[in-house]
Amino acid sequence: MNLLEHEAKSILSQFAIPRPRGEVVRPGDAAPISPIVLKSQVHTGGRGKLGGVRVVPNGDTALIMSELFALMIKDELPRTLLAEELLDIDQEYYLSLMIDRSLGSVEVVAHREGGIEVEAHESSEFFRHELTPTLTSVVGDILADYLDLSEKSFALQDLLTRLYQCFVESDALLLEINPLVLTKSGQLVAGDCKMTLDDDAGFRHPEWQFEAEERDANFITLDPDGTVATIANGAGLAMATVDAIHAAGFTPANFLDVGGGATVEGMVANFEKIGKFPKVTAIVINIFGGIVRCDTVAEAILAAREKVPGLPNLYIRLSGTNSDEAAQLLSVQGMTLYANLDEVLAGVRHG
Ligand code: GDP
Ligand code: MN
Repeated sequence: MNLLEHEAKSILSQFAIPRPRGEVVRPGDAAPISPIVLKSQVHTGGRGKLGGVRVVPNGDTALIMSELFALMIKDELPRTLLAEELLDIDQEYYLSLMIDRSLGSVEVVAHREGGIEVEAHESSEFFRHELTPTLTSVVGDILADYLDLSEKSFALQDLLTRLYQCFVESDALLLEINPLVLTKSGQLVAGDCKMTLDDDAGFRHPEWQFEAEERDANFITLDPDGTVATIANGAGLAMATVDAIHAAGFTPANFLDVGGGATVEGMVANFEKIGKFPKVTAIVINIFGGIVRCDTVAEAILAAREKVPGLPNLYIRLSGTNSDEAAQLLSVQGMTLYANLDEVLAGVRHG
């Protein structure tokens, strides 16, 4: 189970691991007062690069709050934001604890240059060391040398001791602090925190009450700058539809298998998701109604046309269960159906 940053940081607080002061903000809450950093609380990393971390030195936090609540980060809209005091950053390091399965122990991984570009480093460049309760002082000392922070040796030893305790008592699989910030006043603070807990240990953690990750395995973003979106049913038909769009020279934006249990509300939510892709100009709907009923899909299309502003053009092929009723519903609204996918794609080409 992956935790949100604010959930992980509240665990850090329980172990007295230094983190910035902060509060969780929900839609409709009063805007916190600047200067602050506002951070989108989603389960995926890399928010900084995608605009999900906004430093607000002064001015309109209410506006930035509403922008962040509307900003989708890798298919996820935040339900909360974390508002934190600004850090006066001198250096950003990478520090994490994870399970080394070959050693059967905990491993510390670190890098001198942390922050949003950490993935650019070769894996051989990272500091790695086994961590046990008796090793925290020694490893803290070597780590201080590696980070060019010899004057912070005691602080790092103390930090590793607390992180190790936090990791083990929390039944964590990963505890990653990136960046570990050295402030201009010389404090080491967890600027960000990502934690993965071992689901199998849930039985001994009644306190684990975290926001569930809404993972929609059936909606996959293929290209955020794609031009043609897809809605299909059945993984095979959905893949074939994506392939056909690509073969016709367009850039598919997404893969979506609405499955057999498509409801009007669920379908409208999918249209809303697609509506957030900035370059999509056409939505190809390719449904073969077996369990899913074509008239349900038609109702969803009509609802989406009302509810989703600026909905791209729709190119629809519906066949199978209740397709005549669907064609009837759509024709009343002046929409026509295509007989097959080739004709759909010809329609997309002619705009
Ligand atoms: P991530 O991109 O999802 O890993 O989000 P982070 O929380 O790690 O933030 C990304 C980057 O934003 C950090 O590496 C910092 O450079 C910057 N940042 C985050 N918090 C602060 C802050 O309080 N002050 C300043 N100046 N920069 C910050
Ligand atoms: Mn980070």
